Amino acid sequence: MTSNKEAKEGHTIKTFGSIALCDEILKALVEEGYENPTEIQKKTIPILLKGLDVIGAAKSGTGKTAAFVLPILEKLKDTQHHEVKTLRCVILVPTRELAKQISKAISHYSRHLNIVHAEIFGGVSNKLQQIKLQKGVDIIVATAGRLQDHIVNKGLDLSSVNMMVVDEADTMLELGFVKEIESIISLISPQRQIMMFSATISQNVKKLAKEFLNRPVVVEVTNRRQTVKLIDHIAYSVDSEQKKEMLSFLIGSKNYSQLLVFVNTKKMADTLTEHLNLDGLTSLCIHGDIKQPARARAMRKFKAGEIRVLIATDIAARGIDIPQLPIVVNYSLPETTDDFTHRIGRTGRAGNRGCEITLLTVKDYKQFAEIQKDLMLEINKEQLDGFELTEKEHRVARFKRVSLAEKKGMKMPKKRPYVKPALKSKKTTKRDANRKFRKD
Ligand code: ADP
Repeated sequence: MTSNKEAKEGHTIKTFGSIALCDEILKALVEEGYENPTEIQKKTIPILLKGLDVIGAAKSGTGKTAAFVLPILEKLKDTQHHEVKTLRCVILVPTRELAKQISKAISHYSRHLNIVHAEIFGGVSNKLQQIKLQKGVDIIVATAGRLQDHIVNKGLDLSSVNMMVVDEADTMLELGFVKEIESIISLISPQRQIMMFSATISQNVKKLAKEFLNRPVVVEVTNRRQTVKLIDHIAYSVDSEQKKEMLSFLIGSKNYSQLLVFVNTKKMADTLTEHLNLDGLTSLCIHGDIKQPARARAMRKFKAGEIRVLIATDIAARGIDIPQLPIVVNYSLPETTDDFTHRIGRTGRAGNRGCEITLLTVKDYKQFAEIQKDLMLEINKEQLDGFELTEKEHRVARFKRVSLAEKKGMKMPKKRPYVKPALKSKKTTKRDANRKFRKD
């Protein structure tokens, strides 16, 4: 399979207008109310327009129908006014419901083009389908069994087909359609483009792809909503100076045995590792300055339960896959919602529930609100006894009131001396925390 250079290019695409789609398609998308492409559409459409084969790992609901239908329509538009229609594209699906759904999407997206498509599936009259095929179509959306029936018994010829989609390939293989799929693909033109989509890229899907696809580009997207729904979210407000102590306290008091902790910098990773080890919590870190063998060793020890905490930067954590990882901690808040989703997606895998803990200082609140908005999540900010917040009290009242008065040109209030809030000293707080930790 080829590198994902092409797939990465999709990150730069923001609007449908920046993809080379004709006005008729863009107009239909506006009428559909689509403002911007979804992740799978951004990544897949440019690759398909280049004519490359694709394996797309995407669940339903990610917008994958438009991801393959739009480039297909774009490629068919040049022949739309030919007097005789020639069959160019077959879309294979596992169920008749999906065939109907895709057929409806094609009708919508092609409403300003002269492109004809037919639905071919079992349980309805063969004859009507045959009549439609005889009149000439550009695209067939079909279930494998009924399509084969048309080929074997009604002489349907697929040799002109140069685009083929295998949608929900994993489901089709599970339903036992491997022979049908193989035989259908072997009947289409040798100069063809194949697009295979599957919720998961199983061994069988890989095998099928290896047999029929030509150096496919692999495109993967996650359904962010789906990921975050499987996870319990907890957020603690904490002063920046107290974060390390709070993490030690949480691990000890809740008796967590395996945590993946994300930080934003290499320096922070080193400092935090040292702190946790001093507190008796066995930890290692992985980041860009740590050599590959040492990273692999840290991963191995973490997986084997020989260390309790693995601290990682985002880049070093790529590809970490521990099926039953119970807890992920955002020690520092990531800069983007995508990073947040990738981090927390390390837990709650393979249908298991997971837990995500975010430590927030007052300066993170705004960014945290953005992330929650993006993910349609509401996470309460909690406080822990012994870790009372002082940073918040510093900021809010005094500074803002003065600047407002200044803006209005009012007389400035006399500056009052700053009095530290009457809270426990840092030392007492840490001792308190450790006492609780030992009790548990
Ligand atoms: P999938 O094929 O992954 O199951 P669909 O293509 O059916 O997903 O899309 C799911 C829903 O999202 C549909 O209602 C579709 O109209 C809508 N949709 C798809 N792409 C976009 C987009 N770019 N903007 C807004 N809505 C979209």
